[in-house]
Amino acid sequence: MGSSGFLRIKGLRKGYDGIEALRGIDLSLQKGEFLSLFGPNGAGKTTLIRIISTLLKPGSGSVRVMDFDIEEHAEEFRAQLGVISHQSFLYNDLSARENLEFYAALYRVNDPVGKTGELLRLVGLHDREDSQVSGFSRGMQQRLSIARALINDPSLLLLDEPYTGLDEHASILLSGHLRQLHSRQRTIVMVTHDLKRGLESATKVGILSKGRLVYLKERSEVDTDEFEHVYLRYLKGAPVE
Ligand code: ATP
Repeated sequence: MGSSGFLRIKGLRKGYDGIEALRGIDLSLQKGEFLSLFGPNGAGKTTLIRIISTLLKPGSGSVRVMDFDIEEHAEEFRAQLGVISHQSFLYNDLSARENLEFYAALYRVNDPVGKTGELLRLVGLHDREDSQVSGFSRGMQQRLSIARALINDPSLLLLDEPYTGLDEHASILLSGHLRQLHSRQRTIVMVTHDLKRGLESATKVGILSKGRLVYLKERSEVDTDEFEHVYLRYLKGAPVE
């Protein structure tokens, strides 16, 4: 892999019926890096996550993971991927346990029953494991989505506003688990509007605005107050080339 990076995005553009959502994104992450990506509403963050997840095709440009084009090797790539997004990818008429066992079978997880139990405990849903997802609150569904995304122990985890709907206890559990994944060299890209949580875990910090990556720095080089100031300028609509 060497200098090429674990995740390598080059010249990525995407438009929707005349709207330029992404206008040339270049980004490289090494294995084990944790990027927190901030940006105003409509900046293109979800579009970027959906393209890296192979849920959406790029307009132009490329996304490579471990030097493979993700579109050409979509099936192998998805086996290594975990996604937490606005879509839960859960089956409403199955129970929490059945949902996780379904995904465990799909990913051919060793010991699917044990892994399912472990993740239900991690997200605090073990006492509701036999309840149908259709009766779950939004936060409970989000907790289960997190368990679902972790079932294959992904080497790349993409999180689009993962704290949405979570109570403080679940948020603390998620932050702790992300730190643990990071310590096991998992590569993480997290889109968030939560400055505190985004900054506390990241090794890299970025801002996307108007379809461009306008800021990208190592976390260790970022002064929190200065970053807040820059971020606020973009939230207020600072011009982007
Ligand atoms: P937010 O913080 O509000 O979630 P975001 O940074 O994730 O925003 P995107 O959802 O990627 O932004 O949207 C980027 C731009 O693309 C916006 O102008 C949006 O209106 C447009 N867009 C996104 N999805 C579609 C779609 N399916 N059809 C048309 N336009 C879209």
